[in-house]
Amino acid sequence: MSVTSDDCVFCKIVAGDIPADVLGRTEHAIAIKDLNPQAPFHVLVLPLDHHEYAAASAAADPASVGHAVALADEVARAAGVDDYRLVANTGAGAGQTVFHTHFHVLGQAPGMTESL
Ligand code: 5GP
Ligand code: ZN
Repeated sequence: MSVTSDDCVFCKIVAGDIPADVLGRTEHAIAIKDLNPQAPFHVLVLPLDHHEYAAASAAADPASVGHAVALADEVARAAGVDDYRLVANTGAGAGQTVFHTHFHVLGQAPGMTESL
C-alpha cells in the first residue's frame, strides 16, 4: 500500500496531479528536474512513498532509499554526468523545505571540468 500525504507537493507530483519534468521512474522512485536548479545538472530523486526525510524512509522501508540512489545514478549517467553530489537535507535547519524524502543529484553539465 502506498503512503501519501494530502498536502505534500511531491506526493502530488508522484500522483501526476501537478506537472514535473520527469527523467525516470520505477515502481519505487521518481527522478524530476529541480524547479529552481542550483547546478547545471540538478535532479531530485524521491521514493514514491511519503516519509518526511531520508532516515524515516530508511526506517520504514530500507530498500526505498537504495532504489532512489540507484535511480539517481541511472539518470545522471544517462545524461553523461558521471560525477555528482548526492545530498539529502534533513530538517529545516539544514535547509529542508519539502518534507517528503528526496535526494538532490548535483553535477556539472557533461564536458564541464570545474570541480563540483
Ligand atoms: P530541500 O530544500 O527540501 O532540500 O529541496 C527542495 C527542492 O525542491 C528545492 O530545490 C526546490 O527547488 C524543489 N522544488 C520545490 N517545489 C518543487 C516543485 O513543485 N517541482 C519541482 N520540480 N521542484 C520543486
Ligand atoms: Zn509526500
